Order: sequence, then structure tokens, then C-alpha cells
Amino acid sequence: MTGVAVKLEGLRRTFGTVHALDDLDLAIEPGELIALLGPSGCGKTTALRILAGLEDATAGRVLVDGKDVTRLPANRRGMGMVFQAYSLFPHLTAAQNVEFGLRLRRGPLTRAAEMLDLVGLSGFAKRYPHQLSGGQQQRVALARALAIEPRVLLLDEPLSALDAKVRVQLRDEIRRIQTEVGTTTLFVTHDQEEALAIADRVGVMRAGRLEQLATPSEVYLRPATAFVADFVGLSNRLSGSVNGDVVEVLGARLPLVTPHAGGAVTALVRPEAVDVVPDPEATATVLTSSFLGSTSRVTVSVGEQVVVAQVPSGRLPELPAGTRVRVTIQPVAVALE
Ligand code: ATP
Repeated sequence: MTGVAVKLEGLRRTFGTVHALDDLDLAIEPGELIALLGPSGCGKTTALRILAGLEDATAGRVLVDGKDVTRLPANRRGMGMVFQAYSLFPHLTAAQNVEFGLRLRRGPLTRAAEMLDLVGLSGFAKRYPHQLSGGQQQRVALARALAIEPRVLLLDEPLSALDAKVRVQLRDEIRRIQTEVGTTTLFVTHDQEEALAIADRVGVMRAGRLEQLATPSEVYLRPATAFVADFVGLSNRLSGSVNGDVVEVLGARLPLVTPHAGGAVTALVRPEAVDVVPDPEATATVLTSSFLGSTSRVTVSVGEQVVVAQVPSGRLPELPAGTRVRVTIQPVAVALE
């Protein structure tokens, strides 16, 4: 993947005194799936709507395949869209819903059957939306969006109205289909697991700006800022001191994500990087243990600090409250607050 399919350049959007977007830059490569992730109100939907042409930017430009489309109306941008839910026409069957877009663009109607097949709904062509589950309705919406062979596919929280199991299934399906058809895609979500699972790169947004744009593993393992470390996964805030290119925390020497001048700092350490081993001679003590399924979370008091460790559940019987434990930290890179 090289080149740029979609470029958002210096996008700003104000609503009265609210800066929904504040100088947002984003370049999406051809065929790439980027997930915009961030807390409610950070501007994700506004960015997607401006790219779609459903919202005007206060300033900035939108380029698709190098062409400035900032002033082009939505229906001339060649984008396919899937929203949260309930966007199908209730009086049209699944096939007719898919054909709707094809009619507008004068595409061959036979494509509707191909598209329903692509999303695993070939036997459901004659059903009306109320005869389909939420997940099936979203598959039809996806088929409708892809039928027109869009330049860009825009997905705005398409899974958030579905229950957990269907959400994971459909998430994997969307990724499979998107990879198969190779459509450049922007996926908006506030669910970190969803973003990490589905995207080539994740853009973490905060207050109208991109805080980090990187692969899922990089965002998780090497968060660029404390905000990213906090929003994507859990982090312990532990005091430490920077010495050269490492930070010393609870006796461990951990590499830094970004260089720091030195001195006392607060380091953000993932619970799964912390290990606790029973040791009657140790000074740290287990405060609480909670079972989460395959892993368990153990809270430990170490001197003045409280540390959360995530350990395999099989070890939980060894770690009831009051157990003396030795705390070790794996040398994974950490961000500083
Ligand atoms: P969510 O996950 O809750 O949908 P979001 O990250 O998608 O959040 P946006 O919907 O883009 O956020 O909104 C960004 C900011 O702009 C918010 O503070 C929101 O209240 C404000 N905003 C969005 N649309 C409008 C509007 N039409 N009028 C006034 N304010 C708006």
C-alpha cells in the first residue's frame, strides 16, 4: 500500500464556541482501514461527516485521490456509508434496499444478489428489514454501501446497537469483506477493542485532534501520550525516575516510548506487564483479587503505591488478600504522564 486515497487537511469545525475539529490532518492509504477512536464528543463523527459531504468544514480541505472534493455535494463524492442502525428503508426488501443505490447510480441490478452473497445473506433477498436481526440488517446496509463500488467506505459506529457476540462476528466479517474488496475505509468507534481488532491503523482522537495515528499494536504497546495510554487499555500510574533512556519503576528498568530529560516522573505501566509471585519475605501485600475469566486482576500495595497486576486466573488461589508478594515488571516500553 502506497500513496494517499483520502486526505483531510487542516480540518476545523466549530459549532458556536465548541471546536469539534481543531486542525485535523489525516491521510488514508488506498485499501487501508483506519479506525478513528476516541471518547464521546472528540469529533470522530464530525470528521466522518465532513469527509462524506454531510457537514461543511469551517476550514480545511478534503481530497480524494488527489482531487479537492471539499465543495462537492455528498451524492457526488462516491462514498458508501453505514450508520449505527435502522438506516434501511423499511418498505423495501433486502434486495431492493441494495438495488436502491444501484438504481441511483444506474449500476446493473444483478449486482444486488452478488452483494448479498458477499455479506452472507444470499437466502434473505426477499425479507423486509423487520424480518431480519440487527446484525443481518447491518449486513444489508453494508451490501448496499458496497454495491455502488464506492471510492471510500464510511462506517459510523456500525456495530454499537448489536449485542456483544454478534458485534464480534460482524466486526470480523466487515474486515474480511473490506480486505476482499479492497475499499479504502474510515471506521468510527468509541470501542477500543473494536478499533484494535479491525484496523490497519488506529487514529486516537482527543478534543478535535489526532493524538496518535499508528498500527493497533503500536498504539497499545507504545502509546505516544498519557491520554492514549489511558484511553486504550488500563494503566497503572507509578512514580519513577528517568535515567538516560530508561525509567526506573519499583526496581525495574523500563524503556521509554519517547525520550525525557530526566528526574522524577509518573510512568504508565500496563497491568499485564506486572507480575506478582508469593514470597513471605516480600514487603508488598495483595489488597484484592478479582476473577475476570481467563485472567484475574490483583491489586497490590507496594510501599506508598497501589499497583494493579493482571495474571492468569489459574494462579488466583495462590493470591488471596494479605498474601506477601514480590512485584516484577516486564521491560516493555512505557509512556510518561
Ligand atoms: P460520539 O461518540 O458521542 O458520537 P464524537 O466523537 O463522534 O462523539 P462529534 O459528534 O463529532 O463527536 O461531536 C464533536 C463535538 O461537536 C461535540 O462537543 C458535539 O457536542 C459538538 N457538535 C456536533 N454536532 C453538533 C451540532 N450540529 N451542533 C452543535 N454542536 C455539535
